[in-house]
Formats: sequence, C-alpha cells, structure tokens
Amino acid sequence: MNLRTESAPTFSVELFPPKDEPGESRLWEAVDELALFKPDFVSVTYGAGGSTRDRTIRIASELTAHTGISTVAHLTCVGSTEEDLSKILDQYAAANISTILALRGDPVGGPGAPWVSTPGGFDHADQLVDLACARGDFQVGVAAFPDGHPASGGDFERDVEVLIRKEAHGATFATTQFFFEIDAYNRLIESLAKAGSNLPVIAGLLPVTNFKQLARMAELGGTNLPKSMTDRFEAVAGDERAVVELGIEIASELCEKLLAAGVPGIHFYTMNKAAATATIVKNIGMR
Ligand SMILES: Cc1cc2nc3c(=O)[nH]c(=O)nc-3n(C[C@H](O)[C@H](O)[C@H](O)COP(=O)(O)OP(=O)(O)OC[C@H]3O[C@@H](n4cnc5c(N)ncnc54)[C@H](O)[C@@H]3O)c2cc1C
Repeated sequence: MNLRTESAPTFSVELFPPKDEPGESRLWEAVDELALFKPDFVSVTYGAGGSTRDRTIRIASELTAHTGISTVAHLTCVGSTEEDLSKILDQYAAANISTILALRGDPVGGPGAPWVSTPGGFDHADQLVDLACARGDFQVGVAAFPDGHPASGGDFERDVEVLIRKEAHGATFATTQFFFEIDAYNRLIESLAKAGSNLPVIAGLLPVTNFKQLARMAELGGTNLPKSMTDRFEAVAGDERAVVELGIEIASELCEKLLAAGVPGIHFYTMNKAAATATIVKNIGMR
C-alpha cells in the first residue's frame, strides 16, 4: 500500500482484539461481511496489558494469513521498553505484517491522566517511528487529530508540528481520530500544506450506533460534537433503530464531503460490527 500512488481513495476498517470467545466469533463474522467490500486494509488496535498485546499480534497475524487483506498492526509505547517493542516488531514482520501504526498510546490512567515513562522505553510516537523504520522494512503510519490532541490544550499548531516531526522521522501516512466536521479535516490538511507537508491523511470515521456511548468516546478522543449533529440525535433519542439510521446518514454525508475534498482514504471505526460500515460504503458507492 502506497497512499501517495493510490489512484482511488482507500477504504479500510479498524477492528479491536476481542476479550473472549463470543467476541471473537463476532469479529470473524464482521470480517467475513466486510471482506465482501474488499477493504484496502484492516487495522488492529493494540492495548496496554500483556494479554491484550498477545491478542493483537495473534488477530493481526491470522487476518493476514486467512483473508489475504493487508493488515496494519497498531503498536504503542505504553509500558514497554525499546527491547520489548523491538521483539513485537519482529513478530509482526515474521507474520508478514508490513505496515505499523506507531502510537505513543494513552497514559495507563486514561487520556486525561499524566504520562508515566517506562525506564528504557519511549515517551513519544516519533521515537517508535524511528525504531520501526530502523528495525525492518515497515511502512509506518501515525495518528492525527483534526479536533486537536486531547492533551494539547487546544494548541493546534503544536499538533501540526508534532505530525510533521513524525513525517520527518519516516511516517508515510497518518490516520485521524474520528471527527464530524469537514472543516476540521480541511484545516489540518491546509496547515500541513502551509508547512510544506503533503503527508496523506486518511480520515477516521465513526458510524454512530449508540449516542450515549458517543459522548464518552468523544471526550476520551478529543472529538468535538457539533450541536447541529447532537440536536439530530436528541430528536430520535430512545429509538435505537432510528439512532443507528441517523448515524449512517450522518456518516454518509461526511464521507461524501471528504471524497469531494479529495481525501486519500476513509478508515471506519467499526467497533467490530459490519452492518453500519457496509451500508455507508454502499450508500456512497465507494465499492
Ligand atoms: C488512528 C488512531 C489509532 C489509535 N490506536 C490506538 C491503539 O491501538 N491503542 C492505543 O492505546 N491508543 C490508540 N490511539 C490513541 C493514541 O495512542 C492516543 O491518542 C495518544 O494519547 C497519543 O498518541 P500519539 O501517537 O498521537 O502520541 P504522540 O505523537 O507521542 O503525542 C502525544 C503527546 O506528546 C506530545 N509530543 C509528541 N512528540 C513530542 C516530542 N518529540 N517532544 C515533546 N512532546 C511531544 C504531543 O503534542 C502530544 O501531546 C489511537 C489514536 C488514533 C488517532
């Protein structure tokens, strides 16, 4: 996958490693359904605990082996030494995973808690980008935040500098936190361009299926919830089916705007469920 040479915008999905057997069955059902739409890649998130880490490595390896779809494995610096991270990168390489999303990760106490350094480890994603680039033949992506990084206190220019630094260290693409306003995405792309960067920035899109859960997720990820959107959800509150339908409608509207703006790819935060993403992809004729 080389986003600078892809002719059409990429379609991709994010999955997380389930904690138990029933969750794993649901994951593979969603993978089968989404595979029909031929995603350009599937990304697998990475958690801080030891068992979560092992599941990421196993699920990412199995996805690559069994579906043939390119897999992007996330990796974070949380609680790991450089040596630990090197070993995980080697495991990814051995499983034919050639693209990594290099992240610092959230502090163990949650996104708002202070960052705790690990002796012998890294404090910032740019150090992990360096390691992945040096360790193997990896293509390395990084995180971007159209509404601002939750810990940057609204200093958007600093977020742009951080992103450009990660590009200078070897990142070849970024994927955004989910957002709901095209202007936020455009502002990020314009700021990058002004600074001389044309880093491809894949738009992360969350099809809302549960409005109550959204408020918590948005707070953790630093995503703005525009009033024009929350009013629409409040008008259908209590009707679960209507909320899902509205989530699909809102996501489809944003996708259309992003495609018109020339986005290099759209990455769906699926929460391991295929239905909403499949409907949006059909609605907008991306597949
Ligand atoms: C697409 C996407 C996928 C994600 N997947 C996961 C996942 O799988 N697992 C998970 O745990 N989390 C995941 N996250 C969350 C992410 O790990 C957190 O948002 C985290 O707080 C920031 O990670 P980062 O890679 O942007 O960190 P960084 O780029 O290191 O930035 C973190 C903070 O440090 C500052 N900073 C960065 N570089 C420097 C420097 N050199 N010197 C001084 N300050 C610096 C930044 O301004 C920022 O405040 C994901 C986020 C996104 C957008």
